[in-house]
Amino acid sequence: MSIFRQKALEEIGRRPVKPVFVESTPVSGHFGINVFDRKTMQQYLSPEAFGAVISAIDKGAKIDRKMADQIAAGMKTWALERGATHYTHWFHPFTDATAEKHESFIDRTKDGSVFENFSGNALVQQEPDASSFPTGGLRNTFEARGYTAWDPSSPAFVLDQTLCIPTIFVSYNGEALDQKTPLLRSLQALDRVATDLCRYFDKDVNAVSSMLGIEQEYFAVDSALFRARPDLQLTGRTLLGHIAAKDQQLEDHYFGAIPPRIMYFMKDFETEAYKLGILLRTRHNEVAPNQYECAPLYEEANLAIDHNLLLMTLMQRVSDRHDLRILFHEKPFSGINGSGKHCNWSMVTDTGVNLLSPGRTPRSNLQFLTFFVCAIRAVFEHHHLLMSSVMSLNNSLRLGASEAPPAIMSIFVGSTLSDTLKSIVERVSDKRMTPDEKTELKLDVVGKIPEILPDNTDRNRTSPFAFTGNRFEFRAVGSSSNCALPMMVLNTAVAQQIVRFKNEVDALMETDVKKDEAIFQTLRKFISESEPVLFEGNGYSDEWRAEAEARGLRRVESTPSAFRSYLEPASIALFTSLGILTEDELKARVEIFNEIYVKKIQIEARVVGDLAINHIVPTAIRYQSALVENVCGLKQLLSEAEFNELATPQLLSIKKIGGYIKNIREGLHLLVNERKKVNEIAGFAERAKAYTEQVLPHMKEIRRSADKLERIIDDEMWPLPKYRELLFIR
Ligand code: ADP
Ligand code: MG
Repeated sequence: MSIFRQKALEEIGRRPVKPVFVESTPVSGHFGINVFDRKTMQQYLSPEAFGAVISAIDKGAKIDRKMADQIAAGMKTWALERGATHYTHWFHPFTDATAEKHESFIDRTKDGSVFENFSGNALVQQEPDASSFPTGGLRNTFEARGYTAWDPSSPAFVLDQTLCIPTIFVSYNGEALDQKTPLLRSLQALDRVATDLCRYFDKDVNAVSSMLGIEQEYFAVDSALFRARPDLQLTGRTLLGHIAAKDQQLEDHYFGAIPPRIMYFMKDFETEAYKLGILLRTRHNEVAPNQYECAPLYEEANLAIDHNLLLMTLMQRVSDRHDLRILFHEKPFSGINGSGKHCNWSMVTDTGVNLLSPGRTPRSNLQFLTFFVCAIRAVFEHHHLLMSSVMSLNNSLRLGASEAPPAIMSIFVGSTLSDTLKSIVERVSDKRMTPDEKTELKLDVVGKIPEILPDNTDRNRTSPFAFTGNRFEFRAVGSSSNCALPMMVLNTAVAQQIVRFKNEVDALMETDVKKDEAIFQTLRKFISESEPVLFEGNGYSDEWRAEAEARGLRRVESTPSAFRSYLEPASIALFTSLGILTEDELKARVEIFNEIYVKKIQIEARVVGDLAINHIVPTAIRYQSALVENVCGLKQLLSEAEFNELATPQLLSIKKIGGYIKNIREGLHLLVNERKKVNEIAGFAERAKAYTEQVLPHMKEIRRSADKLERIIDDEMWPLPKYRELLFIR
């Protein structure tokens, strides 16, 4: 056994389950203490400064420099009281992680004394020398300046003695270099157009927010075992490894009792999360062994996404104290379930109405159906783009496997709403409805409300996009990803359909059709157009793949092809018409996605090579030599007949091992050659495609032989922690 695996196994054998210090209860006593939230702001800011921040949050109003100085002063006082020594602009570049560059508050006056300094300028804008982040060509080296600018809608917080200020990250010309900027633009666009449409139903609505509840799945492994696996360390997933005899077949892990070690870890990170204002509600075991999930209460989408990213950081840090490592990778273990990040999405008005909640009156139901149908129409129109928005190297390993929806978009709405939609299409004819018919339809819709509610539990787990009573749940999103991207696409696509809906209704009204009738007619049109995307059956089945194709739904063929979909004419029109991303920004994004994709495969390919040649092959040779020695010994001891009988199994193993070693060597030779060739290809898009087609298959081949060897070779010699060790935390 390699010294690393042996040490790791010894170490976990000795590990005591450590209870942790948990903040005193009730949670409300320490909830949000490290956040500069509205309540705290009111305490630390003058009424004037407080008003300025609030109108920036609620109405997007600008904050002038003088006011910024006042706000910074209040923020500084609070942060120093919370123990902060540094501040940082906290932003989301394209790395799926957050970025930060810390500056200390400490400064010197002219007379040489020191003091804590934090000006309005430092709060509002910074120019981190972040020129190494991928920019897709948006920043030339001669103006490699990237600016971070304060996002007041997400409150500042103190973490690790550092005041963190959520910011956007843009180029000198204001082009988005991050995930947050287009997300904020899409939220504003949706707010604008949805508010407009709401006025058909309620003149008092002045704003619409997009709400998001993010369920986060993850794996936990012992940190000693993690350290003994170079693949986990460098790529976040096991690149080799045979499945364990037992994993999730018995489904005994799902919703089972949480192991004490994990429970302490959960309580610990939950406490940290509460202090940072993250309202975690749910925790449970997931389907795969060592797989878990947590979910906060839903909140405004921009905040929900910041909180999710912060939560991932917290979980990683807290796990150290428990000798655990958290794997957010979408598919850390081959052959068992991967992890997702389910995005529960809805829209709510400033009057407190969830636009995706079926109402109690005919009027509110009409409003519900309007927004519900606009969302469906949006998902239909941009089904390929929306599915593409969740694609990544990691997620491509998960989607279409037996536990996750395939890379084909479809919507599940449940039987009741399915019938409601059908009845609208069938019963509202093009001719004007009689008043009786109208009442009947309205009452019909109303009459179905009690049946809509039980649909809450009538879940279809195989659908990538499901309506669950008062929200849509986008389940194809990957567990490690920043869901700002898919949510930006969704918000934008829905905004586009809302605009279209309103235009159609207005046009009908101009021809003297009454408002309600115009809405019904438009609903009918939108529903019939969207029919192909509505699917209530088993999304994992092979029949669905065939049927989806017949319906004209485009499957996302590969990750590089997913990236291309941003540059299709319909996508460019979508993003530019609503002012979310310019064509240049889109091109830059695609370039960056391809670059990251290529680099990730490069790293994986190198790690596979290292594991195969420096870990697996030498072990295989050692075991083979032991067998050879055994056979030679038998040869001396035994008669020929006895030898033929007793040495045959060993001889077979010797040959088999030789065969697998040969496969690995050849596979690696091809892998390296292909990489060399592919690296010559100009342009990341082409290179990404070539990596997928020419490099990935060799990695799979090498894995196959290495995993076979794992089953033959003496367990004591095997260099890497095995699945059965990684997957069962005691
Ligand atoms: P599930 O049964 O899907 O696993 P969970 O309770 O784990 O449900 O997570 C559901 C998530 O959906 C939570 O984050 C919850 O706050 C969120 N959610 C509930 N209602 C809404 C809504 N109207 N809009 C957005 N998210 C919502
Ligand atoms: Mg859940």
